[in-house]
Amino acid sequence: MADQAPLAERLESVRGAIADAVREAGRPDDDITTVVVTKFHPASLVRELAGLGVRDFGENRHQDAAPKAAELAELHLDWHFVGQLQSNKARAVLDYATALHSLDRVSLVDALAAVGSPLDVFLQLNLTDDPHRGGVNAGELGALVDRVLAVPSLRLRGLMAVAPLGAEPRAAFAAVRSASERLRRSAPDASSLSMGMSGDFREAILEGATHLRIGTAITGKRPDAG
Ligand SMILES: *Cc1c(COP(=O)(O)O)cnc(C)c1O
Repeated sequence: MADQAPLAERLESVRGAIADAVREAGRPDDDITTVVVTKFHPASLVRELAGLGVRDFGENRHQDAAPKAAELAELHLDWHFVGQLQSNKARAVLDYATALHSLDRVSLVDALAAVGSPLDVFLQLNLTDDPHRGGVNAGELGALVDRVLAVPSLRLRGLMAVAPLGAEPRAAFAAVRSASERLRRSAPDASSLSMGMSGDFREAILEGATHLRIGTAITGKRPDAG
């Protein structure tokens, strides 16, 4: 069992590294939301982080996220869903999530539209050639954008991506940034970029990330299930 001190220290050290990268990029320092990804960790860890001032939490599986959100409901946290989402879970996830970072297909847009609750969405770009990875290819993005813009309950925030294993993260994030410039021609308000994890958030910040999704650098190693 880790006590609270190492958690607070890791959080401080990541906050410091984010501030350094923001300075290096010459960006304003209120421009970035850090989503702490707590998947596989218990609700007690989320509660500790909330006590240290964290408001935004990321989860990637509905069956893990729902009980944590319910147990911590009185803290009024912002839950960001960052994993692959089955359309038949859309209604249940809308009960607690404020944002979905992994919207990747028209059928899921339709499921969210049918429920009609407000939700911030990021369209996930697949930067690999592997169709089993989450996300749409750049070529399919336009059709998905048009469908999302037609749904009043969905607020299109921008794009999300994971840098492919083995790729140079800065180049991967630069590709997301150019896709974002194209996206803004049809959706001028969709300027957010959800990119950057424990190992590559500096590169993401240098390429314009507005939402970092950071797990292990803050939480420590994930329990076995992860
Ligand atoms: C787990 C996860 C993260 C956080 O990864 P770390 O390397 O632990 O920082 C970020 N984004 C997504 C989509 C994830 O599934």
